[in-house]
Amino acid sequence: MEQFDIAIIGAGPAGTYAAYEAAKKGLSTVVFEEHEKIGEPVHCGECLSALSCKRLELELPQEVISMKVKGIRLIFPGKRGVFLEEPGYVLEKHKFEQHLASLGQEKEAVYKLKHRVSGMKKDNGGWQISTTQGEYFAKIAIDASGVAGAASKFLSLNPEPKKVIGLQFEMSPIESDGFIKFFLWPKLAPHGYLWIIPKNNERANVGLVTNDAPSTRKYLEQFIDEYGLQEKKKTKAFGGFIPASGPVKNTFSDGIMLIGDAAGFTSPMFEGGTSLAMASGKFAAQVATEAIAKADTSKAVLSRYELLWKAEFPVYSKLIEAKNALYNFTDAELDKIASFIPQNLTNMTPFGKAKVGAKVILNAPSLLLKGFVPAMNALSYSRAEFYGW
Ligand SMILES: Cc1cc2nc3c(=O)[nH]c(=O)nc-3n(C[C@H](O)[C@H](O)[C@H](O)COP(=O)(O)OP(=O)(O)OC[C@H]3O[C@@H](n4cnc5c(N)ncnc54)[C@H](O)[C@@H]3O)c2cc1C
Repeated sequence: MEQFDIAIIGAGPAGTYAAYEAAKKGLSTVVFEEHEKIGEPVHCGECLSALSCKRLELELPQEVISMKVKGIRLIFPGKRGVFLEEPGYVLEKHKFEQHLASLGQEKEAVYKLKHRVSGMKKDNGGWQISTTQGEYFAKIAIDASGVAGAASKFLSLNPEPKKVIGLQFEMSPIESDGFIKFFLWPKLAPHGYLWIIPKNNERANVGLVTNDAPSTRKYLEQFIDEYGLQEKKKTKAFGGFIPASGPVKNTFSDGIMLIGDAAGFTSPMFEGGTSLAMASGKFAAQVATEAIAKADTSKAVLSRYELLWKAEFPVYSKLIEAKNALYNFTDAELDKIASFIPQNLTNMTPFGKAKVGAKVILNAPSLLLKGFVPAMNALSYSRAEFYGW
């Protein structure tokens, strides 16, 4: 049986980044991926903030970037737009993940493609991992299997998380002003939002996330009509599920750590998870290295992983409170809010926020009772600083 220090389940951004970090630290590392090609099929809007890369000192080669963007434009139901300048990228996500994998491979991480992990059991102080193409041994397992949550199921570590569905079409030709557009239109995306994410060659991902799963496609088609995109070509449809109940209870146990979507690490604001996936992969690789150096992969040693991510990631309950407040407003109320806030939200000072608050008190005090303050926090929490994207 082939033996490794670390076995990683899944070659998304979490798994590929963790593999890179682990291999860089000299651990023998294997990644099992059920698909034939890393990064395919894409199931993501493909946005990543520049800050996320800077935090990890990750330089992106030109070919993984579809478009450099200036920030996010938030469009309210009456079509008033406000914007946040915050540089970032729209990726060619499959190429991005392939790039992360190649960084690990340069450090001798091994990729086993078309290897679906079907079970794991404790063996000789480590794990015997069963895949569709054979058995492997590893001292530590890292579950990076995304929303599938493979290890949580195999080991009954955590219950199934709540999920929301995201669906998008790649469409063209779509003009771009260099901003990602997010639409807060509850009528067409209840408890969610719609997006137009520009890519090169006049392509764009046009999609939505909502908790009203059965109506997802109908809403998207309606949005395309209402926004006047019905004549544009749909080049592909793609999407998937996003964990939506926050970090799982057990992100580590004896000999195992959970990272990325498998750990429930998505930002509830606009459902971004790539940044959190990579950062959690880095923490897990760091803790795995320490555990292997001590020859102690017990739960007690791996508990440091939880300390690291809790110290870095924003507190989920605060984000959820803010998101629920924002999504609780009707289309008409959101338009009222839009009329009170400045167009450029980039450098809102406490004084600027107080001015907005005063306008609301004078003109629409009922909005305060309905959660205007936490809803405004939601706009802050969508920023890269809070792992919003
Ligand atoms: C429609 C949509 C739009 C999104 N837009 C954005 C966005 O713009 N920006 C952003 O930051 N985030 C976005 N997200 C979220 C983002 O895609 C995820 O948070 C991110 O991909 C999580 O990375 P991960 O590595 O944890 O999981 P994944 O990317 O899901 O990777 C998991 C990998 O594990 C493999 N796998 C699963 N089970 C097994 C098994 N048993 N054996 C072997 N391999 C297995 C899968 O094939 C997959 O390759 C979006 C999600 C959706 C659905």
